Amino acid sequence: MSAATFGTRAIAACASGLFFCLAALGGASAQDVVPAPVDGTALLAARAIAMPIDGVQGPALQDTFTDRRTGGSHEALDIPAPRGTPVHAVDDGKLVKLFTSVPGGLTVYQFDPAGRLAYYYAHLDRYADNLHEGMALRRGDVVGYVGTTGNAPPNVPHLHFAVFLLDADKRWWKGTAINPYPALRQLP
Ligand SMILES: [Zn+2]
Repeated sequence: MSAATFGTRAIAACASGLFFCLAALGGASAQDVVPAPVDGTALLAARAIAMPIDGVQGPALQDTFTDRRTGGSHEALDIPAPRGTPVHAVDDGKLVKLFTSVPGGLTVYQFDPAGRLAYYYAHLDRYADNLHEGMALRRGDVVGYVGTTGNAPPNVPHLHFAVFLLDADKRWWKGTAINPYPALRQLP
């Protein structure tokens, strides 16, 4: 078949519908169609997350996501609060990891119900009682208390809160950072 003949047939097929259009243009099957990239910000907006600290109003938050910090971009929000203030799960889901790291100190990793997003709570003073990996979390559950563990200045207790769009292999420590500021900013 010549290129001209193919072109004519492709146009005719396209006129009869998308499926036939794809079939005509080189025999592409559904499996060959590259999925559109996931919009993490839209995904997060759809979850309608809650404020992790009681009494903090969205408009009072500072957007610290793009701040330069030791080791690169901050990629998180810092929410100042007195030491010992309860930190609440922002969404339903599952507690996947309790982890102590040099920068983050005492941390919690939570997945959303679909396992698409990870929520990260860091610099905790201590965990909530009876917290364990694999447990279900409900929005509002206390996961820990504000502190300065890790690299937080000892006189500036705050919650370091981050959101990640998980990779296909859903490793709790790996993902693409999403700025939670727009989602939290709109909360009263
Ligand atoms: Zn931080």
